Amino acid sequence: MFAQVIIDQDAKALDKVFEYLIPEFMPIEEGMRVLVPFGSRTLQGFVIALSETCNYDKSKLKSISSCVEDYPAIRKEMLELMKYMARKNHLKLASILRLFLPSEMREGKVQELFITNYVLNEENEFVISKNAKKQMEIINYLKKNKIASRAALIEKFGASALKSLCEKQILLAQKQQINRQPYVALSEDKKVKLNELQTRAIENIKENKTYLLHGVTGSGKTEVYMHLIDRALENGKNAIMLVPEISLTPQIMANFKARFGDNVALLHSGLSAGERFDEWKRLFSGEARIAIGARSAIFAPLENLGVVIVDEEHEQSYISESNPRYDTHDIAEFRARYNHCPLVLGSATPSVESYEKAKRGIYQLVELPVRANGKEMPNIQIIDMVNEIRMGNSSIFSSQLLSDIANVINSKKQAMLFINRRGYASFMRCRDCGYIAKCSDCDVSLVYHREDNRLKCHYCGKQYKALSLCPMCGSDSIKQGAVGTEKVVDELHKIFPEVKILRMDNDTTSTKNAHQKILTEFKNTHPCILVGTQMIAKGHDFEDVILVGIIDADQSLYQTDYRSTERTFSLITQVSGRAGRASQEGKVVLQTYAPRHYVYKFVANYDYQGFFKKEENIRMTAAFPPFSRIIRVLFSDKDENYVRELIKVCYTEARKLKEEYADDIIYMDAMKSPIKRMQNKFRYQILMRVKLTHADEIEDKLFQIIDKASKTSVFFEINPQNLS
Ligand code: ADP
Ligand code: ZN
Ligand code: ZN
Repeated sequence: MFAQVIIDQDAKALDKVFEYLIPEFMPIEEGMRVLVPFGSRTLQGFVIALSETCNYDKSKLKSISSCVEDYPAIRKEMLELMKYMARKNHLKLASILRLFLPSEMREGKVQELFITNYVLNEENEFVISKNAKKQMEIINYLKKNKIASRAALIEKFGASALKSLCEKQILLAQKQQINRQPYVALSEDKKVKLNELQTRAIENIKENKTYLLHGVTGSGKTEVYMHLIDRALENGKNAIMLVPEISLTPQIMANFKARFGDNVALLHSGLSAGERFDEWKRLFSGEARIAIGARSAIFAPLENLGVVIVDEEHEQSYISESNPRYDTHDIAEFRARYNHCPLVLGSATPSVESYEKAKRGIYQLVELPVRANGKEMPNIQIIDMVNEIRMGNSSIFSSQLLSDIANVINSKKQAMLFINRRGYASFMRCRDCGYIAKCSDCDVSLVYHREDNRLKCHYCGKQYKALSLCPMCGSDSIKQGAVGTEKVVDELHKIFPEVKILRMDNDTTSTKNAHQKILTEFKNTHPCILVGTQMIAKGHDFEDVILVGIIDADQSLYQTDYRSTERTFSLITQVSGRAGRASQEGKVVLQTYAPRHYVYKFVANYDYQGFFKKEENIRMTAAFPPFSRIIRVLFSDKDENYVRELIKVCYTEARKLKEEYADDIIYMDAMKSPIKRMQNKFRYQILMRVKLTHADEIEDKLFQIIDKASKTSVFFEINPQNLS
């Protein structure tokens, strides 16, 4: 027998299948990890297939040296997934396979954790001196309890007594493997009775199809997910649920643990290496049957899936932007189809792409249009910040927001103030009239590049002189930049020195469980103001939050891509959803310099459909996804001359595509990337926007051109979230 092996190394030259002989009596199976001789070295590899025949000269083949484990760590489904991803995302096989295993396992750094227990040695007759009281106590304790851990015995009776008993072989040591489980706060299982809409949703979601669960914030989607998972378990099947990293709140994890206990395994970035490894193993062995985690949990080693759930499906974190690049939706779809089970994409603000698919019947739309507790959505008041300036108020708070905060304080309630900093781009804006510098060709906001004092379009590369005067109103207070959380907290302190103000952002949550601490403090403090970034936008359910303030709603509006309006709509909807979830009615104060932008009208009316129609129209007219495909190929290398030459060669070839597909290629150019150098590598890119008709064909041909020309890695991205 012969084994086809993928070498677990990054080099492009090794990205192919190598054949090895299987020594007699070596029980090799597909999906096993093996050690193989390679040149003068021994390398790790994955057996991806077995065959009776070989393609190379048999006499020259080498034999597999040994197995890393005696079982296939990569199962059949994942091998199929590997092929699918390689085809679809133009990725190296080894880089895909690596996604399927915890990195700790590959590097052999993390081992199983064992603890030592002690039992009495039945075969040993023993005498103990009367003075050894502690030793006697241990013996009596073990007579009663049969077994106890080393840690427990030392704590109760001291180390020296234990040591003496071991030396006299009165006690026997036994090793026990321990699973390191991530800490989860305990909570009670809130058993609620499903309402009619939820019941209907669950009944609807049963086939081997993709369902788009569109439910307003607070509509009880989580309860629907839990029931779907419950049903899967009852049918003897397993489940995967993905949530964006930032919504992996302690609260959500606690709720799932409360409902499903040890059946849940958590996979997220807050785990220690040991915890991640053990959670993975619990899933692999079938001990845990529900994987809950961020993006990478879609690769959970579960078989026989009964449901796959992607919560907050519109979140951009589902698209992997580092290598290997992939879109989690594709993988989720693959796994659901492979297991013949439903895929559920849930959101209060589905992505335009997903809603478009629902509209065309590719996804099945399931709706939860009202809050589960019957409460109204909070009123959203739009404040024109340009007007505030005109009235002589140039602070970051409008007078309305200040008086609403004062109200919250007087009534001993709570407020959340939201600063949007994600993907913060330095656009230029006129403080007097709200004008934003945009590209004349692409209608996306320009990015200010300090180093050469120019404005650039990240879509087409076109450059503009930086502005000193506003072209609309002539004002000279045209600036770039925005405020951060720290500044907001400082300013608030000055105005309300007595009130507790908490801050939650990347800086204040970098230590373990910091997140949880801030949230607990917030929960227990009245009155209190929580100032935060995206982190406070999701998943939280605080009863006493009656006010949400959005300090500068426009910040995500002027990011430089076609999704920025969509992102703004969804962020504001999410944040607003934090207000007035319990008894008292909530309110949202939204501060903007562009109050007439269409997105705010739809947001204030909670009109997702209206927003979708408008956005769909704009995208169709401008030929942006989902009505076209953006392809970016990123070349990067330490040697700038090499990348420049390479891109020249590729682009010359690629231009022939432009002739062949003249009707399909809307835009195509080669250029430096907006971030020209990253981690000491020079970055160049080919950017392309193509109509959908022949998009796959063009993509494949482009890939072939580039793959042939390049000796280093090149990154393919489809509809990238970020063009930096
Ligand atoms: P979503 O995820 O859709 O924003 P959640 O799942 O967080 O909404 O639910 C919002 C609140 O409504 C939660 O406190 C939840 O316990 C509660 N809830 C969910 N379903 C019901 C129900 N059928 N009856 C009463 N309360 C419910
Ligand atoms: Zn102006
Ligand atoms: Zn442009």
